[in-house]
Amino acid sequence: MLKEARNVLKTYFGYDDFRKGQATVIEQTIGKQNSLAIMPTGGGKSICYQVPGLVTPETTLVISPLISLMKDQVDALTSLGITATFINSSLSNEEQRDRMAALRQGRYKFIYVAPERFDSDAFLRTLDSIPLSTIAFDEAHCISQWGHDFRPSYRTVVSRVKQLATIPTLMGLTATATDEVIRDLQQLLDVSDDHVIKTGFARDNLTFQVVKGQSRSAYIEEFVRLRKDEPGIIYAITRKQVDQIHFSLKEKGLNVSKYHAGMSEMARKDAQNAFIQDDTTVMIATNAFGMGIDKSNVRYVIHYALPKNLESYYQEAGRAGRDGAPSDCILLFSGQDIHTQKYLIEQSEMVEDKKKQEYGKLQAMVNYCHTNQCLQSYVLDYFNDDTGAEDCGKCSNCKDDSDKVDRTKEAQMVLSCVKRMGERFGASITAKVLRGSNDRKVLQFGFNRLSTYGLLAHLKEKDLVEFIHFLVAENYLIAEEGKFPVLRLGKRAVDVLKGSAPVMMQVAKVEKRETGEYDEILFEKLRLLRKETADNQGVPPYVVFTDKSLTEMAR
Ligand code: ADP
Ligand code: MG
Ligand code: ZN
Repeated sequence: MLKEARNVLKTYFGYDDFRKGQATVIEQTIGKQNSLAIMPTGGGKSICYQVPGLVTPETTLVISPLISLMKDQVDALTSLGITATFINSSLSNEEQRDRMAALRQGRYKFIYVAPERFDSDAFLRTLDSIPLSTIAFDEAHCISQWGHDFRPSYRTVVSRVKQLATIPTLMGLTATATDEVIRDLQQLLDVSDDHVIKTGFARDNLTFQVVKGQSRSAYIEEFVRLRKDEPGIIYAITRKQVDQIHFSLKEKGLNVSKYHAGMSEMARKDAQNAFIQDDTTVMIATNAFGMGIDKSNVRYVIHYALPKNLESYYQEAGRAGRDGAPSDCILLFSGQDIHTQKYLIEQSEMVEDKKKQEYGKLQAMVNYCHTNQCLQSYVLDYFNDDTGAEDCGKCSNCKDDSDKVDRTKEAQMVLSCVKRMGERFGASITAKVLRGSNDRKVLQFGFNRLSTYGLLAHLKEKDLVEFIHFLVAENYLIAEEGKFPVLRLGKRAVDVLKGSAPVMMQVAKVEKRETGEYDEILFEKLRLLRKETADNQGVPPYVVFTDKSLTEMAR
């Protein structure tokens, strides 16, 4: 069977090998077993029902809640010489009748319909009258009330299908499904545990990058200019940002469109169509753009500003490379955006608990920008993806071959400071204390009397805050959920404080410094700190420096 499937893959689609998970789903379907396939966007879900549909003589029915995508799918099949059509509300009554008649005559191998079609008894009778091998539920998460995009009309389809004289083989396909949704779908579509195929969320053709410390407008301008023939999306947070970026790129003669909720419906539609039809190459938009839009050849998605959480980020960035070709997902990070996002949460009408949750999700997004871990695997960990993907080898962290520098001593200072401040304050005031600021709050709490006061005065506040974010991202510190996340020592802190584990950081992320002078200052401060620690017998020595490490530094 699989050999035949392989032939079909080669002769019709021109591909040599199945992608991860495809062969299993196809084999099960040909063997008339129901399946549930959870594969990432661009993972090749269509092939999972298209190949069995071509191997078996009967018709395959595809249910899709996205009318906009049906035509593309049908056009693609038709261009390969496969008989296919769609029936939905975008057609006139007459066209619908014609296609139904052709369907009854068995003229189609594939037929695409929207869930609403099942409201009609006539449609059900037609299905009963033709040989049907498989019903594929695309975007199956919409069937489940636990899914993020639940459509009640889609759920009733399942019970209607079960009214058919003979129930064909069923297949559910989705890119996003929590365990809850999976269980629900298994029950609805009669899929046994070993027929659930989950390939994980990894998007192998995407390269993730976080860009810091550069002028964002200059970065975008150069990027778009260098790749001016490739379709791309640039996401900004506010309408004003969208207008500004659009204006400046257009002024430079680049072929750009824009999209945000402040534009008229007509203007938005025009912009969208121009982009989808490749009349303009770059779309600058707020997150209002993209839902239900299928443009498979987007070569890059740039986030001009920090998204509110990783769920949104991965979904928006994931609009790149749906055709499976290599594509870039770039996030331009600026610490300022954290405040903007916090402000948006604060201003929203969510209940307090929900706000707290959102602040927590924002923190994870910020951590993504500061971790040294592989970015793809960071995201997979966040989604509890247990498919065991390895580091991607091409994200900005994997690619960062600059030397790691030892920042243990500075980390010890930060951790000690957090501890001495009673683990009740956030990154910004902690940075102020370490820099020896005369800030009102610092003085009010008497933090200027702490031994850690002013220890890192030679660092810029911005860089120090960045460093604290890094320590959070790497689990040396915990930033508790809340609008002003409170810093506490994380699970890796103790070993650092004891001096038994180093804190290494990629050098590209460290502010350049004058080494000689710097080390001298550091040495003097450590000496004082050590003395203070020794004087305070009752206080646990959060920083333990051996004489050896001090002599080493003095050299
Ligand atoms: P999904 O529905 O999972 O988002 P699609 O079915 O639209 O993804 O497929 C995405 C792209 O991958 C399409 O261009 C498709 O032709 C391509 N593709 C699918 N399977 C394979 C394969 N086995 N080898 C190469 N390309 C494939
Ligand atoms: Mg699809
Ligand atoms: Zn990586």
